[in-house]
Amino acid sequence: MKPITFSASPYTIDNIQLFKGADQAVVRKLLAPCPIMHVAAGRPLNPGGRALYIVLSGALSVAADARMGMADGNINKVLPGESAGEQSVLDEEANLTAITALEDSDVLAIDAETVWKLIDESNGTARNLLRLLSFRVRAANAQLRRRQKVGEFYRQMSMVDGLTGLYNRAWLNELLPPMVGQAHGTEQPLSLIMVDLDHFKKFNDSHGHLAGDQALRAAAQAISNALRPSDFAVRYGGEEMLVLLPDTGADVAVVVAERLCDRIRQSVIFHDMRLPMPHITASLGVASLTEGQDEQALIACADAALYRSKEAGRNRVTAA
Ligand code: GH3
Ligand code: MG
Ligand code: MG
Repeated sequence: MKPITFSASPYTIDNIQLFKGADQAVVRKLLAPCPIMHVAAGRPLNPGGRALYIVLSGALSVAADARMGMADGNINKVLPGESAGEQSVLDEEANLTAITALEDSDVLAIDAETVWKLIDESNGTARNLLRLLSFRVRAANAQLRRRQKVGEFYRQMSMVDGLTGLYNRAWLNELLPPMVGQAHGTEQPLSLIMVDLDHFKKFNDSHGHLAGDQALRAAAQAISNALRPSDFAVRYGGEEMLVLLPDTGADVAVVVAERLCDRIRQSVIFHDMRLPMPHITASLGVASLTEGQDEQALIACADAALYRSKEAGRNRVTAA
């Protein structure tokens, strides 16, 4: 691979993005000693080197480096007239990107010193370079935002229980303490309803575990459907669910709990009418936040009330 110089090549600078509108005479003079490299398809360009590359023919691929957290298939194709490697020249970092030829290509290599001379002596080139870098920064920011959205999606997924679609314990651990803090701070009420399905072990034994799962889903659905948008339902344990009612006092919470109890009792577990119709009931315990109480104590109160519902014969609501 014997480089020829730009001045001796058949290529002109008119079609090069970086030199659009720049003083042609100045640019031509500075580019005269710059070599044109013939790079075979699949070959890398001077890995780790610091040069600005301009594609004259063929195409390059630029894969952002893993150290930048960008190595996820974020590959750019650089076509004739376009450039690569500007940033590593400007900030004097070794080239963090892997540049390879996608096809047999002719590439003009401009060393760092010449790039700086171009910036000093050709306003047009400096302006084009700034515009190009600004575009790159904008694209990188857009990519970061996309990635954050994907991250947020998975974070939310990890907060949702797979079987019931209700929030899970991880969500509760993250959200209940600030909710309790806010209720204390604003002196707004906050109530909890603990729900436990009745004789659910027996249900599993009689109908099978898959039917049990289906019943659990039906109960969760009944609860979700009966709540206001400002309320939250969490799968607290196996067949225990916890409902959070912000800005809700004890009296209203009991009314909501009675509604949940009814809806669970009425919930249809199988839509297939040929099957015998099993049904489920639940016991519920209601507690409302009292002065100075933390979230653990509040949950314990709801649990104690639930236990009294079980003791009193199940399929009912008890308030703490
Ligand atoms: P009680 O009325 O006193 O609550 O009786 P119970 O049988 O519901 O109480 P216990 O806590 O002894 O049993 C809970 C049962 O719930 C045992 C377990 O097999 C079942 N269970 C828990 N999680 C799941 C689940 O995800 N799917 C199914 N099918 N069953 C579950
Ligand atoms: Mg139970
Ligand atoms: Mg239980």
